Amino acid sequence: MNVSANRVVTLTYRLTNHVTGETIEETNETNPLVFLYGVGSMIPDFEANLSGLNAGSAFDFSIAAAQAYGEPMEEEIVMIPKNVFHDESGKFDEAFFQVGTLVPMSDGQGHQMRGRILEITEEVVKMDFNHPLAGTDLRFEGNILEVREATAEELDHGHAHGPHGHQH
Ligand SMILES: [Zn+2]
Repeated sequence: MNVSANRVVTLTYRLTNHVTGETIEETNETNPLVFLYGVGSMIPDFEANLSGLNAGSAFDFSIAAAQAYGEPMEEEIVMIPKNVFHDESGKFDEAFFQVGTLVPMSDGQGHQMRGRILEITEEVVKMDFNHPLAGTDLRFEGNILEVREATAEELDHGHAHGPHGHQH
């Protein structure tokens, strides 16, 4: 059975920075990626490169940043008044909020996002809300472990169930 729409794919991969070779993420057979193919849950080029592969197939492909998480955008770097980060006692927790820290935040509409602290001054915290992989060319190397038909329930939910899929 090959990888195509409405099938559940189990695979392992190593994600590296295509330019530097640095490992970004790695899965293995005890903790593989399991997903419902063809519903847009993955980067489109990631799915396109897996199309038609069978269980047991190996893959090795690269996706340019623009087709993956996009290029970093200047408007995603924002200055936030320091008092936004104050705790209940009105203090800025310097031990927690440090340059490089990823901070979960929500906007006025309640959307969740993560920002990385770039700089902390007396008045403001400069944060980068670009995706951590924005601007990075990605290389995926791995193996297809299993391909199966999705169940009616999985298709209805739009995601894979099972040991490594959604549990509910
Ligand atoms: Zn479900």
